[in-house]
Amino acid sequence: MIRLDGKQTSATLKKEIAEQVEKLITDGGKRPHLAAILVGNDGASETYVASKVKACQEVGFKSTLHRYDTSVTEAELLSKIQKINEDSDIDGLIVQLPLPKHISEEKITERINPSKDVDGFHPQNMGRLALGSPCFVSATPHGIMELIARYNIETSGKKCVVIGRSNIVGRPMSILMSQKGIDTTVTLCHSRTQNLKEVCLEADIIIAALGKAQFLKADMVKEGATVIDVGITRVPSEHTKSGWKLLGDVDFDTVAPKCSFITPVPGGVGPMTIASLLFNTLKSAKKEIYNL
Ligand code: NAD
Repeated sequence: MIRLDGKQTSATLKKEIAEQVEKLITDGGKRPHLAAILVGNDGASETYVASKVKACQEVGFKSTLHRYDTSVTEAELLSKIQKINEDSDIDGLIVQLPLPKHISEEKITERINPSKDVDGFHPQNMGRLALGSPCFVSATPHGIMELIARYNIETSGKKCVVIGRSNIVGRPMSILMSQKGIDTTVTLCHSRTQNLKEVCLEADIIIAALGKAQFLKADMVKEGATVIDVGITRVPSEHTKSGWKLLGDVDFDTVAPKCSFITPVPGGVGPMTIASLLFNTLKSAKKEIYNL
């Protein structure tokens, strides 16, 4: 069994990005700049945004964080996004989700200029993804594809089961795994899927993204399968300073011995997500997707 080390792989990816930033600057270009909008002070969102800002510093990006109280109006946020869209110094913009209920996430996402949508959530980027055209691929699916590529995991002709059909993970993942060059045969499962255990037992590759701690058990996984665990659930713990720990969607201890490759939680998909966001921002700065 090989553990897919997201910490190590993301460090390599970040090193490559930092080298490219240096080259950009040496060649007379400007420093890539990521802007983030954070509304409220939800613990998990604070942690994610702080990690993204820290990662920007590590690779030599400029970053700006725009914080708002939960009382902010949708109109105020839309107007801020518009300003950022028009700011030629800014290459990428992310709005940390979830947003308060009185703000439409759809409207906010659609206001971001697709050429700065480094989260890849805008319909134009999602549509291009489905068509196989150049686009910003959302960070978590992109990070998983990097892990698969860098560990040379065989995909062509294999059976892949994706559990979860969200717009940010499951659905784009299913599109990427079926695209030309990857060539797996994909089954996309969700909360209404019947006989999930039998479906999973057929899979050479399982990508679990449903958000239910330790859901995937050893009796759902065939011998030699590759298992990618996207889930992050915070559960109370007496053994940590913070009082909680993170669990994935996979019952790691019992599933791992059956696998050829598996990602741990933490230290698997999570760090790859942040590195992929930086990767997209660099691509934006280099105008590799939209040559505007
Ligand atoms: P979501 O709640 O939007 O979607 C969950 C999906 O799982 C739904 O499509 C639902 O149909 C499906 N589902 C729920 N119960 C199921 C069941 N019993 N059987 C089969 N399918 C079922 O979640 P999301 O935003 O896609 O996130 C999924 C998990 O991944 C969460 O734990 C989230 O925290 C984590 N996540 C991690 C990263 C990362 O960087 N590692 C990034 C994004 C999300």
